[in-house]
Amino acid sequence: MIRFASLGSGSKGNALLVQSGRTRLLVDCGFGPRELARRLARLGVVPEQLDAVLVTHEHSDHIAGLAALVRRVACPVHVTRGTCAALGARAPAAESVRTIRAGETFTIGDLSVAPYAVPHDAREPVQYVLSTSRLRLGVLTDAGHVTAAMQAMLAGCDALVLEFNHDLELLEAGPYPRFLKTRIGGPQGHLDNEAAATLLERTDSARLQHVCAAHLSEQNNCRERVASRLARALSPTRATSGIASQRDGTPWCEIV
Ligand SMILES: [Zn+2]
Ligand SMILES: [Zn+2]
Repeated sequence: MIRFASLGSGSKGNALLVQSGRTRLLVDCGFGPRELARRLARLGVVPEQLDAVLVTHEHSDHIAGLAALVRRVACPVHVTRGTCAALGARAPAAESVRTIRAGETFTIGDLSVAPYAVPHDAREPVQYVLSTSRLRLGVLTDAGHVTAAMQAMLAGCDALVLEFNHDLELLEAGPYPRFLKTRIGGPQGHLDNEAAATLLERTDSARLQHVCAAHLSEQNNCRERVASRLARALSPTRATSGIASQRDGTPWCEIV
């Protein structure tokens, strides 16, 4: 069994809790210590129960609470060399850092962790596929477009946490300055609803049980558009879906 829950997702902070057996991992830590503890408590977990943190990249919505968490619980932090360099003064204590590379799988307790490279405007960003001998959970946020290698990594997953950042029409019509619209919608920016749904439609989904839409923009997207596009993409499958919110994340989702 693998279960997972978003603690909150969006440009104001991201963290994803993943558990299998006695192993609990946090993917990113974009919430400060009090907020993180409060959000974990909702799921019946205290920070001391985390076995490790996996970092995707150095943007503050993913690492704002990282150093404080590591000061409290001294758990290992898995991070690419480039991300660690880009963290600078925000990096956790050196003895906690474990350097990882895209393409090199490693194990933490009951979970196998496969980092893979993504196109995003950060130094050396990765995303992760977490698996047991029987189950695969694919995580993908903060990617400007979908490469063939990413598509292959996410094939055959039992569950996906997938970025539905913006709706192209809403981004274009929205209040952001032109440079920001270009950045967000560009090849190193974020996945829009159509790109995410297309990825789902092109991916081997025979085993897919659940898709959680994540990293929705509060300015440039709306839940109704995400829900309807997601439902259409998943209509040939048996998978259920949910949307992670900035304020409340998601409840636990269990795949078996
Ligand atoms: Zn982000
Ligand atoms: Zn980012």
